[in-house]
Amino acid sequence: MGKDLYEIGEIPPVGEVPRRMHAQLVRPERYGEPAEAIQDEVIDVPEIGPHEVLVLVMAAGVNFNNVWAARGVPVDVTKTQARWGEPTDFHIVGSDASGVVYAVGSEVTNVAVGDHVVVHAAQWDPDDPWVLAGKDPGLAASFRVWGYDTCWGSFAQFTKVQAHQCLPKAEHLTWEEAAAPTLTGGTAYRMLHGWPPHTVQEGDVVLVWGGAGGLGSMAIQLVKLAGGLPVAVVSSDEKGEYCKKLGAVGYVNRRRFTHWGIPPRWDSPGWKDWLEGAKAFGKAIWDALGERRSPKIVFEHPGQDTIPTSIFVCDRGGMVVICAGTSGYDTVVDVRYLWYLQKRYQGSHLFNDDQARAFNDLVREGKVETTLGAVYRYEETGRVHQLMGEGKLPEGNVAVLVSAPRPGLRDLPA
Ligand code: NAP
Repeated sequence: MGKDLYEIGEIPPVGEVPRRMHAQLVRPERYGEPAEAIQDEVIDVPEIGPHEVLVLVMAAGVNFNNVWAARGVPVDVTKTQARWGEPTDFHIVGSDASGVVYAVGSEVTNVAVGDHVVVHAAQWDPDDPWVLAGKDPGLAASFRVWGYDTCWGSFAQFTKVQAHQCLPKAEHLTWEEAAAPTLTGGTAYRMLHGWPPHTVQEGDVVLVWGGAGGLGSMAIQLVKLAGGLPVAVVSSDEKGEYCKKLGAVGYVNRRRFTHWGIPPRWDSPGWKDWLEGAKAFGKAIWDALGERRSPKIVFEHPGQDTIPTSIFVCDRGGMVVICAGTSGYDTVVDVRYLWYLQKRYQGSHLFNDDQARAFNDLVREGKVETTLGAVYRYEETGRVHQLMGEGKLPEGNVAVLVSAPRPGLRDLPA
């Protein structure tokens, strides 16, 4: 008979599932800064249903949604997961993983015990009428983000996922490299390819906010692969140079501007100063590009600080596509710029199976770099999310070793 609990870094024989596991949890009574809110605890390994899979997590990817989950804002995640009948007293963070399939439900056909997989974070009810009608599951009422809207995230020895979330792991990548990019890459893929007719085309200029961050480092590469011209926005010249290495044609250092946040009212004296700031920023994009063309797509996620500028600099008939409000949610839009030049302001959230698979295929073909900026130990999960919340992580994506005993492994250790 196998052990009841394995220590972090110990790997049970393939297919042998212990009763208990280590997991990095948040609980409602300790919501706050991630360093305190996210803590290691030992809990029961979850049971799986007929369409579900239990994955031994080798490495987990670090994403900003875990920072939001730890803080308990903008939502209390335990209240969201209650909607799916999940526990209400704790939440395991984590929406990116690489690992090994250890158990499959009775109806699962796409993966088998022993498969090496990465897990994408999009979940929905298999019997949702919208999904059964063949429509985009990304717009289904039951759509949810695994490890954010649901309980059983990736910062644990085992994670419970829906079978369709499992995609083949790129064999050339280490566990930590494979764990890092799926959530940000898939999200960037939907933002850039999922909203026709505003999909990135050959020669399109695309402005990428936070170009050196998780989303941005993926977006730059996807724009380049589609033949577009990515211009990054960053907060330092070092980050700008990093973006150029990824394929950006140039960058704008946002620290050189001060017109951020909610602009003064359009009929107040201060508004003209704001407009001068926005115009100067637009000119900086042309300078970075080397020609006087404006972005057909603006890849947005800072939100409150930047939306007024994004709407202003977006080209006639172009699209501002947004998936977050890292700096706040009150995004004032001067509608004159929107209607007169017929721009589109589009929300986007995660991805569907097709988009996650398309992105993963690019990774497997070696066409997208996973931009792993740093690797941390399981015990550092709270600290690494604290650093992320404070904007102190290095460029690119970041991963944490869970069951992988050391970095650099592509397979299970002998
Ligand atoms: P990240 O790695 O921390 O990068 C975000 C970048 O945004 C930072 O590196 C920073 O770059 C820039 N930034 C931060 N505050 C800014 C501000 N006030 N003005 C302008 N730029 C600012 O995070 P990420 O993984 O890219 O995620 C970014 C956001 O998207 C998070 O809020 C995350 O929760 C969200 N997200 C949403 C989805 C979805 O499906 N809805 C999916 C993934 C991520 P510089 O300092 O260099 O400018």
